[in-house]
Amino acid sequence: MTGRPPDPRESSLDHLGLYQLGVHTVTGPTEAVPPCLVCGSETAHPHFEIENLTARVVVCDKCGLGRLHPMLDSDEISSLYPDDYYGEPGTKFQPLVESVVRFIGERHITFLSRGLAPHARILDVGCGRGVILGALANRGFEVHGLEISAEAARGADPRAEIRIATRLADADYADASFDEVIIWHVLEHLSDPRETLEAAHRILKPGGRLIVAVPNFSSLQARWTGDAWFHLDLPRHIHHFPLEALRTLLTDTGYTVGEAYHFSLRQNPFGWIQSVLNRFGSLPRNGLYTMLHRRSHDEPPPFDAATTAWLWFWLIVGTPFALAATVWETAIRSGGSVHVVATR
Ligand SMILES: [Zn+2]
Repeated sequence: MTGRPPDPRESSLDHLGLYQLGVHTVTGPTEAVPPCLVCGSETAHPHFEIENLTARVVVCDKCGLGRLHPMLDSDEISSLYPDDYYGEPGTKFQPLVESVVRFIGERHITFLSRGLAPHARILDVGCGRGVILGALANRGFEVHGLEISAEAARGADPRAEIRIATRLADADYADASFDEVIIWHVLEHLSDPRETLEAAHRILKPGGRLIVAVPNFSSLQARWTGDAWFHLDLPRHIHHFPLEALRTLLTDTGYTVGEAYHFSLRQNPFGWIQSVLNRFGSLPRNGLYTMLHRRSHDEPPPFDAATTAWLWFWLIVGTPFALAATVWETAIRSGGSVHVVATR
C-alpha cells in the first residue's frame, strides 16, 4: 500500500485506468475522524477500501456522508485530473455516443435555463470545456465559468468568461452578482464542499438559484450495487452524499432547499448498466465506460475483440432494462444521481 493514488503522469495508468481500480467493501469498528462537514460528528466506520491506496471510504455514523479518509492533499487531488480527463476540445466520447450525449444535453439546457430572465448571469462551477456555457450563451444568457484546469478551458466558447482557480472563494467574483450558479457533478470532487456552497451563496443575488447535482449515495443504485457502483469513481469522488445530507448542508449554508429531481437520462441509465456489469460480470471494471470513451486515434483499443463484443452486447441488451430501472427509481424518488434546486 502506498500513501498516494497512482499518479497518471508517473505510471502507466491514465485517467481511464483509475476507473479500473478495485474497490472492496470492508467492515470495521467505528473510528475517530476529523469532524464531518455536514453534521460535525467525529466518528465514522470503514466502508470501502481502494486498491493500492491507503485512503479508504469511511461513512459518518450520524448522517451517512461518505468520504475519503485520510483526506488526499491538493497535489494528490490534482494528479487525478490529467489533461486527457477532459477529452479533446469539443468531444469527450466516441462520436456516436457524443451525439446521444448532445441530444440529451438539450433537455438539460432547457432545465438549467427555466424561468431565468433574458440575459441573466450564470456561473458554471467546474465548467470543463464549457459545453454547457456555449449552449446557454446560444439562448442569450451571460455565461461565466470557473475551472481548475487551464488546459480544460482551452477552446471554450469565446462568449464564456472563464476564470481559473482551485477554489470558488479565490475567484474574485463580486457579491450578489449571479442569477444562477450551477455546480453539476462537481461537489463530490471537492475536499471542502461546504466552503464552495458558502462562496456560491455569497455571489448569488438574493433570490438567485443554485442548481447542484451529485451521485446519490442513499439511492437504490448505490445500495444495491455497493462497491461495484459506477458513480463511486474512487478516488476522484472525495465525498459521497446521501440526499438528506446534501439537503442539510444546503440549509446550513443559508439556502432555501427546493425540489430534488431524481430523473437523469445523462447519468442514471448508464449508471445502472455499468454498475450491474461491475457487480455480476467477469468483464473489466467500468469496461463499458472505458470502451465508449474516445481515445486518441493512434492508441490501440482498450480491450481485445471478444471483450469488446461482450461489452457491446450487454450495452444493447441492458439499455431497455436500464431505462426501466431509471423510470422506477424516479417513481420511488431514489435516483442514482440527483439534482437539487435551492435559492439564496
Ligand atoms: Zn455526518
